[in-house]
Amino acid sequence: MTNARENERCYYCGGQEFEERRVKYIYTREGKHLFVPDMPADVCLTCGMVYYHGPALLRVEERFRAIYQSGEEPDRYTTMPVMDYA
Ligand SMILES: [Zn+2]
Repeated sequence: MTNARENERCYYCGGQEFEERRVKYIYTREGKHLFVPDMPADVCLTCGMVYYHGPALLRVEERFRAIYQSGEEPDRYTTMPVMDYA
């Protein structure tokens, strides 16, 4: 995970083709999480590497602080995936 691509080339494979998509993102700090199911990001069409947008990351970080430090309510709660191994 990196937050910006510097010269329009994929940091990993050197690819130059990207597509903007909405991806799942989990911001984690000090054991706390904020799940963002529709995070905007650029995805490398060659290797699939995801590049998050700087402003989007800042927005998530601000929201995280508001929720955990200022007691603001999140938009909604989600639960973790469940596997029934019967
Ligand atoms: Zn790539």
